[in-house]
Amino acid sequence: MSTTWHVLGAGSLGTLWATRLARAGVPVRLIVRDEQRLQAYQCAGGLTLVEHGEAKTYAVPGETLDNEEPINRLLVACKAYDAENAVARLASRLAPGAELILLQNGLGSQDAVAAKVPQARCISASSTEGAFRDGDWRVVFAGHGYTWLGDAGHPVAPIWLDDLTAAGIPHEWSTDILTRLWRKLALNCAINPLTVLHDCRNGGLQQHHCEVATLCAELTELLEQCGQPAAAEDLQQEVERVIHATAANYSSMYQDVANQRRTEISYLLGHVCKVAARHQLHLPHLHQLQQRLIAHLHSLGLPSD
Ligand code: NAP
Repeated sequence: MSTTWHVLGAGSLGTLWATRLARAGVPVRLIVRDEQRLQAYQCAGGLTLVEHGEAKTYAVPGETLDNEEPINRLLVACKAYDAENAVARLASRLAPGAELILLQNGLGSQDAVAAKVPQARCISASSTEGAFRDGDWRVVFAGHGYTWLGDAGHPVAPIWLDDLTAAGIPHEWSTDILTRLWRKLALNCAINPLTVLHDCRNGGLQQHHCEVATLCAELTELLEQCGQPAAAEDLQQEVERVIHATAANYSSMYQDVANQRRTEISYLLGHVCKVAARHQLHLPHLHQLQQRLIAHLHSLGLPSD
């Protein structure tokens, strides 16, 4: 019998993973916040994945954070700002040798989670898959992509990657996951806040070439100073490529703000500014971008952390 995957968070990515694992016959359990959410989930009868316009429901068993069964493998699929507290509530349930897979965007939450569960192995992931919720317990698979997984402290790949292969989750074990996470973070910082402030799609930033270039120069300096030179290589070129290739898309931060949702700013631009301060680097444009974004979020009544 293979090890059960506990999935923490029934949102977009949690559902995308849980349904594909369940479809492949891999044992999965879903962890929701509380008894009320569990009842709502049980009434819905399972998690629904909409793929190529076709909806299929999978009766993944659910439980709350307070269940007492031990956890051997935990997919953490909540937002970066929820991960640390949610995992802390599960710490006592982790079996010896437990492994956590952290799907959070940006940086900062991975270390915060790892500090709460020093007895467990924490594996970070960086994904280009895209999904969104079009109803409670229901997710649309919007963009096929790839997920890189890695453990900065331990380069050996876990055997359960076979479960991902069986589930048709495209993935690769990465021995330089930190470089990937930093690169993605830098791309995000050069693009997402500006799309919010200029109220535009990614392609709209072609009109703000100089502003983008200035941010890329500061991000490159930061990456080089904090021991991530590979993540800095040709950053501006890649940012421009992404802006062009995704010109018609709205960035994730733009969508969060447009939908009046809390953003992950603290783990994106906020993390970059914090690391710059730690290295005593003067990066005025990134700092100013953070101040403008915070003021904008406040003006909309949204949290800025
Ligand atoms: P999401 O749709 O907002 O889902 C997060 C889920 O976590 C929600 O269902 C929420 O429950 C649940 N949650 C939060 N705290 C919890 C707790 N204490 N106990 C149980 N459940 C809890 O978020 P997402 O879009 O899947 O994003 C997850 C992470 O993946 C983010 O860091 C995001 O940046 C990253 N990511 C997302 C995508 C994508 O396409 N969506 C792509 C790449 C990376 P409620 O429903 O009860 O609030």
